[in-house]
Amino acid sequence: MNDVLVARCAGRGARFGQMSVESSELSTAHVDCDAFYVSVELNRRPELRGLPVVVAGSGPRAVVTTASYEARRFGVGSAMPAARARRLCPQAVFLPPDGAHYREVSQRMMEIVRSHVDRVEVVGLDEAYLDLSDLYSPRAAMRRILADVAAATELVCSVGIGPNKLVAKVASDAEKPAGFVVLTREQACARFAGAAPGLVPGIGPKTAARLDTMGLRTLRDLARAPEQLLVERFGPNHGRELRRRARFEHDGEVSEARKVVSESRETTFDEDIGDPARLRDALREMAGQLCASLAAHDHHGRTIAIKVRLDDFSTVTRARTMAAPTCDAEQVTRVALALLEEYSPPQPVRLLGVRVAGLASRGVPTGGKRRGGDPAGQLELPV
Ligand SMILES: [Mg+2]
Repeated sequence: MNDVLVARCAGRGARFGQMSVESSELSTAHVDCDAFYVSVELNRRPELRGLPVVVAGSGPRAVVTTASYEARRFGVGSAMPAARARRLCPQAVFLPPDGAHYREVSQRMMEIVRSHVDRVEVVGLDEAYLDLSDLYSPRAAMRRILADVAAATELVCSVGIGPNKLVAKVASDAEKPAGFVVLTREQACARFAGAAPGLVPGIGPKTAARLDTMGLRTLRDLARAPEQLLVERFGPNHGRELRRRARFEHDGEVSEARKVVSESRETTFDEDIGDPARLRDALREMAGQLCASLAAHDHHGRTIAIKVRLDDFSTVTRARTMAAPTCDAEQVTRVALALLEEYSPPQPVRLLGVRVAGLASRGVPTGGKRRGGDPAGQLELPV
């Protein structure tokens, strides 16, 4: 690691003559471990390598979290009902998710990344953006990071490197698993010109469908579309942004701000529950587990929320912000039960969850402002 650290320039503003133009264009990396849960499981159960392995819960409504490549060949994919995966691939080894272990491995992985790079934006257990702008040799640094991550965790990651987060993300997705794709913006435009607009993060299925009806079926089409047309259809901000994304233009910085801001527990019931007493029992149990975990990490949050999904899949959240941060099980349970009682689900409940948000460690201000205009201290959170 030392050669990389020594090669670091003095600061973000200090670009010296010896830094090649090419390096300065490669300011951002995206690192992503493919099939993370399965990879972690295979590392502790090497005897399962080469077999179809599926990480999924066991209840009748459980979904697949991750499937190994061997299982994917049978058509098994993420978010598919586990029951369907069992039908498609009855010989697969089904493992229950072990969130605590995955978080621990993720922490080890991110610690190694941070030991090489000052600015890291973690965006998931197995995904992060890295600011490479201070590194003399971004490619060599990334190779070293991958080697260190593999040595410590046995995880194989895909990497994308580019001039911004958008290029880096699409590049890391391009050659999974174990990809290492380095692209300038122009190269990204050329390489993905024929791809559907939905390839680019920020262009969702609804937008892609509207673009399709306008005859804009590829990123090339979108990049060449008259700005005026896009502005008319999507409004000035979204319209211009769509065109910029199709051109792989992006100026979002790698920011460390996206640290853990909330923690939650939720359960999809095996069958819909209408009985308020059973809902309260479930909520009590989850609040207890959540607070035990918060306390273990010395995390305290000011906002306590519940999430309720009804049998028609409509989802409601209710939240209340406390005067002081807490991880006290009694308090969190009391507030969560009160929120449930106030909402009083009008139909049977499919999923119930509890969340504590605005987390901070003890002694550190949460930085979260209480939202104004809400005399009851109650607010709706986006789902
Ligand atoms: Mg991943």
